[in-house]
Amino acid sequence: VARWNEIPLAPPDKILGIAEAFKEDSNPKKINLGVGAYRNNEGKPIIFPSVKNAERSLLETEVEKEYTGINGSKPFQSIVQNFIFNNSNKDAAGAKLIGGNRIVTAQTISGTGSLRVIADFLVRFNSAKKIYVPKPTWANHIAVFTDAGLDAEFYAYYDNNANDLDFANLTKSLEDADPESVVLLHACCHNPTGMDLTPEQWEVVLEIIQQKKLYPLIDMAYQGFASGNPYKDIGLIRRINQLVVEGKIPSYSLCQSFAKNMGLYGERTGSISIVTESPEQSKAIDSQLKKLIRPMYSSPPIHGSKIVETIFSNPELLESWLGDLDQVVGRLNTVRDKLYQKLDKTNYNWDHLTKQRGMFVYTGLSKEQMIALREKYSVYATEDGRFSISGINDSNVDYLANAINEVVR
Ligand code: PMP
Repeated sequence: VARWNEIPLAPPDKILGIAEAFKEDSNPKKINLGVGAYRNNEGKPIIFPSVKNAERSLLETEVEKEYTGINGSKPFQSIVQNFIFNNSNKDAAGAKLIGGNRIVTAQTISGTGSLRVIADFLVRFNSAKKIYVPKPTWANHIAVFTDAGLDAEFYAYYDNNANDLDFANLTKSLEDADPESVVLLHACCHNPTGMDLTPEQWEVVLEIIQQKKLYPLIDMAYQGFASGNPYKDIGLIRRINQLVVEGKIPSYSLCQSFAKNMGLYGERTGSISIVTESPEQSKAIDSQLKKLIRPMYSSPPIHGSKIVETIFSNPELLESWLGDLDQVVGRLNTVRDKLYQKLDKTNYNWDHLTKQRGMFVYTGLSKEQMIALREKYSVYATEDGRFSISGINDSNVDYLANAINEVVR
């Protein structure tokens, strides 16, 4: 019993810690650029109008709150498969995989839940227990993978001095990777850098994956945030599907989330899809996924997945959602441009901002500069120099740009 008194204090979550410190600050000009959740130009969180309409319709039609399946509802699974792998009926390779029963999909507790489920699955069934993640990556990736029992190691990704992708070292570190290990790839809008690979660069990486027999695990938390159109952001998936159909890559997994692109954050709506080598394998994997999930949380929540089902089964709502998403991404890009325009380029080259995509600006500012921004200007963000663009709007962009210019001077 005494051992309960020996439990040490755990460090607070970095991003949530920023929100706490922000709350305490009495400066009326304070800005919170920590959390990666959308805010409108008034600094307020929103519900997508398409989502609100789907909820209105659910309120009228829903007659029960029964449990869904261990792996979610069948309609949700096929909607997700068709949406991601089949580009809504436009992708031949994806269609072949779906038609051939080579994709197993389970609804999960958003993107984090899907990462955890696949990490546990890999610990049970992948021959190698090592997972290579980009340096840097979303901090929770490492926590999820190591908690599940995988051994997380970095591969080179970003050059902090050049403020650019470090492609030469990226390929080198993957060439040096242990065969049959897992490699984590961000589908688009890499978190935190905002820098993605070009199709030509993906081609090189996919070639190394084949040579080293690496197992690709794709995380897609920001589908739609690169181009404004979710169907345009799945180039990596379309290409890897072709390679799977050609037999060059046997299989891979994909974690997906509707948190950002449908604004369903707290509804915890996402999925894990495992692309398999055969329908027989699919059957076994499906059964093992259920066996893994049942004692963990039994079944996923239903409200978010019903919203997704409602939107995808109504062409008008679907159109409206694509418009909502495009607007959200449009605002982020406008703000990114505005900030870039207002930054002083005499002492610092800010061109990397124009190449980054997604929810974040990865400034390249040092830890000292980030601390100065916080202490002198009440600008709160993670010390790695990442700004969540959502926190920037017409009322604070001048103040922010001026603060950055002062700190860089
Ligand atoms: N992957 C990445 C790269 C993310 O940035 C996030 C959210 N910050 C997630 C996964 C998971 O998000 P959620 O669990 O809210 O779907």
